[in-house]
Amino acid sequence: MSVFSHVDFDQHQQVVYGHDQASGLKAIIAIHNTSLGPALGGCRMWPYASDEEALRDALRLSRGMSYKSALAQLPLGGGKAVIIGNPHTDKSTALFQAMGDFVESLGGRYITAADSGTGVAEMQIMAERTRHVAGAGQREAFGGGVRNGDPSPSTAYGVFVGLKAAVKHRLGRDDLQGLKVAIQGVGQVGFGLAQQLKEAGAELWVTDLVEANVRRAVEQLGATAVSQNDIYGLDVDVFAPCAMGAIINPHTLEALRAPVIAGAANNQLADAQLADELQRRGCLYAPDYAINAGGIIDVCYERTGGSAAQVKAHVEGIGATLAEIFRRAEAEGATTTAIADHLAQERLHAAR
Ligand code: NAD
Repeated sequence: MSVFSHVDFDQHQQVVYGHDQASGLKAIIAIHNTSLGPALGGCRMWPYASDEEALRDALRLSRGMSYKSALAQLPLGGGKAVIIGNPHTDKSTALFQAMGDFVESLGGRYITAADSGTGVAEMQIMAERTRHVAGAGQREAFGGGVRNGDPSPSTAYGVFVGLKAAVKHRLGRDDLQGLKVAIQGVGQVGFGLAQQLKEAGAELWVTDLVEANVRRAVEQLGATAVSQNDIYGLDVDVFAPCAMGAIINPHTLEALRAPVIAGAANNQLADAQLADELQRRGCLYAPDYAINAGGIIDVCYERTGGSAAQVKAHVEGIGATLAEIFRRAEAEGATTTAIADHLAQERLHAAR
């Protein structure tokens, strides 16, 4: 399997394969870029159909983390770990201890964190073997940061700030009174966003796979519940995807009417070319990795230390970053995703 000629190879600095026969660990750590600092990114566990598929995920996700941290002006690079295995059947203490040893072997060039298929419990096992773990509830032990919590409130606040910047740019409004927002997924981030929007006077439409989550939004925030399919075609000002990826696709695009898309979900565009189509239709898209950076900002301060006020101020910078992306996209007739990528690349080059 080739790395250097791989279609997703993008000048990655290091790609390492880890294997431990006793525990059955098979993992890949990809470090994309460390110009701005150590590479931080989650450890995903997934039953990849092939090693090739796992490599592809590691290459793409690690690059995404470099861009996300660069745009968020964090002293972090981008990396990602993938464990080939089924998170429901293949987890063991020995496996994550071996993974901790693997992370430790990189001497801090890569810092791991929870991702799909892993959580605090796995981070705690890895933290027995390495201190290069974020979100393991071990901060005091290493004399590090002052926070150790769930990053989703910071993510929700960043999306709120970014949504306001998008509304200001596209709709020319500073206040959100009466703004109509459709939220897909009212889980940790989506519900936090909904609360802030409600407080700012917005009207909400929500959908979720989990009925209890919908009910909470209806009962506590006066949101209107809609079906999973109806969320796209609503006559609203903003569509906020806060559930899963690839929800902007040729099928949903036909239904979407909102002039602004601003939400937390990762990898919202099923295909990069869809950004051109959104631009052609006059729909302002807030690039996902720019607007949902609140969580990584939170994790960064958790490691380095910093007050809640500092975290909040940094997260608010997401608004200024997005405003710059929107301005440049309009001035250059480019898509917001092209400008966001360009801005991140500029920052990575400057750091080099
Ligand atoms: P979550 O699991 O708490 O919430 C997601 C919600 O979406 C759940 O309630 C789920 O039932 C619902 N959902 C899933 N598929 C759906 C569908 N087809 N239609 C309607 N609802 C559906 O997750 P979260 O932490 O709130 O994250 C939301 C999104 O934001 C994810 O894409 C995540 O990758 C991204 N994100 C989260 C963070 C964070 O700090 N939590 C940071 C960056 C990005």
